[in-house]
Formats: sequence, structure tokens, C-alpha cells
Amino acid sequence: SMASPALLMRVVASAYCVAEKAATIVRNVMAAGDLGIVEKTGANDLQTKADRLAQMSICASLARKFPKVTIIGEEELSTDEVTEELIEDGHCEEILKSTCPSQYIGIKEEELVIWVDPLDGTKEYTEGLLDHVTVLIGIAYGGKAIAGVINQPYYNYQAGADAVLGRTIWGVLGIGAFGFHLTEAPAGKHIVITTRSHSSTLVNDCISALNPDSVIRVGGAGNKIIQLIEGKASAYVFASPGCKKWDTCAPEAILHAVGGKITDIHGNSFQYNKEVKHMNSAGVLATLRNYDYYASRIPHTVKQSLVP
Ligand code: AMP
Ligand code: MG
Ligand code: MG
Repeated sequence: SMASPALLMRVVASAYCVAEKAATIVRNVMAAGDLGIVEKTGANDLQTKADRLAQMSICASLARKFPKVTIIGEEELSTDEVTEELIEDGHCEEILKSTCPSQYIGIKEEELVIWVDPLDGTKEYTEGLLDHVTVLIGIAYGGKAIAGVINQPYYNYQAGADAVLGRTIWGVLGIGAFGFHLTEAPAGKHIVITTRSHSSTLVNDCISALNPDSVIRVGGAGNKIIQLIEGKASAYVFASPGCKKWDTCAPEAILHAVGGKITDIHGNSFQYNKEVKHMNSAGVLATLRNYDYYASRIPHTVKQSLVP
């Protein structure tokens, strides 16, 4: 008989369905119309009912199945009992059947850290820029992002009523990433993608120094990584603090699984052990290809302004 699937594959297979449940919650809250917006640190740092309910659903569902895994979610929530209707018990059979890379077969629950951004791109969600929104579940082991799920609840929402709404992208280092069409950005063009709601002089000065052919300004770390792996942009450049470990963990795993690279603006890799500081204080630099081209052109003055 077959050995039972490795823990990592069971976690990813569950995270896939848990992210789909969260996406349904995100759509339902918007459809109901009462977003319940709360300002966290200010008007550009928001939380809605969708962020709260999606996080409760994701964290409670994963904790029930994997009680010894450390789960770190973005939102600070009251420790109210989670209602049973928020629990997702399913898993993706295709992921469960995938072969776990040998170096991850022996992983124990205590060794995994799951970083959860229940709704990435909240500012854009409240403004109706719905395809900027993603649900991010990143899985770390030994301080490294090794697997991730990105659900885009409103993928295809401008494609008409016949189009299937929403999609789920998943990836594991050593297996690859699935649920999208891997595409390289146009050769010889430098298309930079960056924040639309968290710009600063430093953010803009850094981009200017790269002399790009064009700049795409959209919300969400998950959304920007999707645009890199689908060839819409060649580099994600964000020379600012603000982005956190739950923003980068799932995107990093998926980008690295297809041969891309993400670091801070100095070129340091991110760490995802449970003790780590949440803030990515020294910004983000990510590419699918040609990482060195962009890294070598980040101005020294920009680097000096961003302390890791
Ligand atoms: P953005 O590209 O602006 O959508 O940012 C990517 C992620 O980092 C989102 O989850 C943002 O909420 C977060 N983020 C970036 N900058 C800030 C900031 N200044 N304050 C709060 N959150 C931020
Ligand atoms: Mg986020
Ligand atoms: Mg969020």
C-alpha cells in the first residue's frame, strides 16, 4: 500500500481549499455591501470584515488539522469562538498525489510556520479594484519560504458573466508552480511594477534611477508577483518599509519555484522563522528573470535610506 502523503503535501493540499473558502468569504462580504472598514495605523492601512472573517477561517481551519504548526496571521483578532460555518475541511487531491521533494519528506508540524495574509490589497478592495486582491498562505521551513498558495478571488471579473471567476495558484520548491501560464516579460523592455497606494519620494526616486520603459502601479504584493510570473512586468521594485512577512512568504515560494528571485532592496533574502520581525524594513526587489540587472542599478543613496 501507498505510504501516507508527507506532511508538507497535506498542508499545501489543505491550504489550497482553505484559500478558496477565504476567497468565497471575500466575495460574499463585498456582495453583501457592508465592508466594516477599520483604520489600523491610518487611512492607507485598512482592515475590513473580509480581512477578519477570511483570517478566522484560514487560521482556524489549518490549526484544526495541523495543531502543532505555528500560524501567523496579519490581523489582530479577538479570540472569539470561530463559528463552524467558517471551517474548511477539504483538500486538493492533485496536490496530495504530487511527490514531496526528498528534503521535505521528514518535516514535522512543529517545524512549519504558516504566514497568512487573508486579504492582500485591502485598500484596493475598498476602492473596487477587485482584481488586485489576493489571499496569501505561505509555508516556511528552516526560515525559508518553501511552499505557497495565492488565490485571486476576482480573477476574470472584467471578462464577462461567462468567465470563471477566481483562480488558485500553488507552488512548492522542487516541484514547481501551477494554476497560471508562466510567461516571460517582453525581452529588452524594462517594465517596473510597484505600489499604487504606498508611494513615497524614495519609492519614486528608486524607480526613476532604473530608467524603466514603463511603470505599472497596482495594489497587493500577491498581485505584483502574479504579474511577474505572467510576463506583465519585469521587476517589482518597492524601496520602502511597509510590506510584511505575510505579504512576501507565499509569493516568494511561488516565484522561487519557477526560478525567480525576491530579496530586500540590498539583495538580502527574507527569513520566515516564527521569531522574525514582521516588517520587511528594507523594501522589496523581485524578478522572474534578470534579477542582477535591477539589483546592480539600485542607487547607493536608496540603500542607505533603508535599514534592514
Ligand atoms: P502595496 O504594493 O502598496 O499594495 O503593498 C503591498 C503590501 O504591503 C500590502 O499588504 C500593503 O498593505 C503593505 N504595505 C506596503 N506599504 C505599507 C504601508 N506604508 N503601510 C501599511 N501597509 C503597507
Ligand atoms: Mg498584504
Ligand atoms: Mg492583508
